[in-house]
Amino acid sequence: AKEQGRNTYQFYTDGMQEREVMRLELEKDLSHALANNEFVLHYQPQLNLNSGEITSVEALIRWQHPRRGLLAPGEFIPLAEESGRITDIGHWVVMAACRQLAAWKDTRFGKLNVAVNLSGRELDDEDLVDRIRDALDAEGIPAARLEVELTEEIFIQNIEHNLDQLSRLHDLGVNLAIDDFGVGYSSLAYLKDFPVDLLKIDRSFITDVTERHDDAVIIRAVINLAHNLGLRVVAEGVETQAQLDFLKDQGCNLVQGYLISRPIPAQELEKALASGALE
Ligand code: C2E
Ligand code: CA
Ligand code: CA
Ligand code: CA
Repeated sequence: AKEQGRNTYQFYTDGMQEREVMRLELEKDLSHALANNEFVLHYQPQLNLNSGEITSVEALIRWQHPRRGLLAPGEFIPLAEESGRITDIGHWVVMAACRQLAAWKDTRFGKLNVAVNLSGRELDDEDLVDRIRDALDAEGIPAARLEVELTEEIFIQNIEHNLDQLSRLHDLGVNLAIDDFGVGYSSLAYLKDFPVDLLKIDRSFITDVTERHDDAVIIRAVINLAHNLGLRVVAEGVETQAQLDFLKDQGCNLVQGYLISRPIPAQELEKALASGALE
């Protein structure tokens, strides 16, 4: 087998083919990752600008790969979506988030909400809502403590099916957030029909907001639109105090970004919260 491996390597000298070999290898490893318990959630706090407190955290998946180290979701989520493994991975994410909520229950972190990301592909699963309900029930977590973040494409494709899924999820009491708002699609019609609670302004509008008048105008308009529709607004990718000050002036509800904290393991988060470093 070694012999063959070397031949294969020599054969694929061209960069694109090497990438393809790596992709196939990663895909194979991905098929064992759940069973080997190689996924972890890191948590990025969201600062509530009204109370000055951390009231929620976003769970972001990482893969502790046996040879390649800690992989970011961009390196394996697309693969998991293509292969259909995303359904099981997504279920693991929901269960892990609920277990974390249960672990925090009777501690000083007991009021935190946890947000998880779901890709459109995960909504295809007819059992999704039941599985989320079962995970909440198993850990004794009220549904309102869980937020689900979805990007705009799910409001454009499979509309009837997705509306049904999200309505059932919302009826459970789970809060729904639109992720990466503003980069996907121009139509806002879905805001009328879908039961959405939060809107997350994409990082690309925040980055230059203190230098670029047009970004500032867009953010102001989005915050007004969201508030008039009864939605709370989260700004993502906040890296400077000047950005935070602007967003606070505009009445933005929550901010998330490296200024407050990078995504970190639960234990580190607990330490940072306990020391008051994040407020
Ligand atoms: P996202 O949901 O938009 O998550 C925000 C991403 O921006 C995260 O990258 C986070 O680490 C990064 N970020 C946060 N604050 C800042 C900042 O101030 N500056 C900059 N430059 N970046 C910041 P990450 O963790 O690599 O996640 C990438 C994407 O992978 C996520 O984008 C989400 O779409 C997806 N993802 C993460 N976890 C899951 C999951 O459990 N399931 C699914 N389906 N997708 C996931
Ligand atoms: Ca997100
Ligand atoms: Ca986002
Ligand atoms: Ca994103």
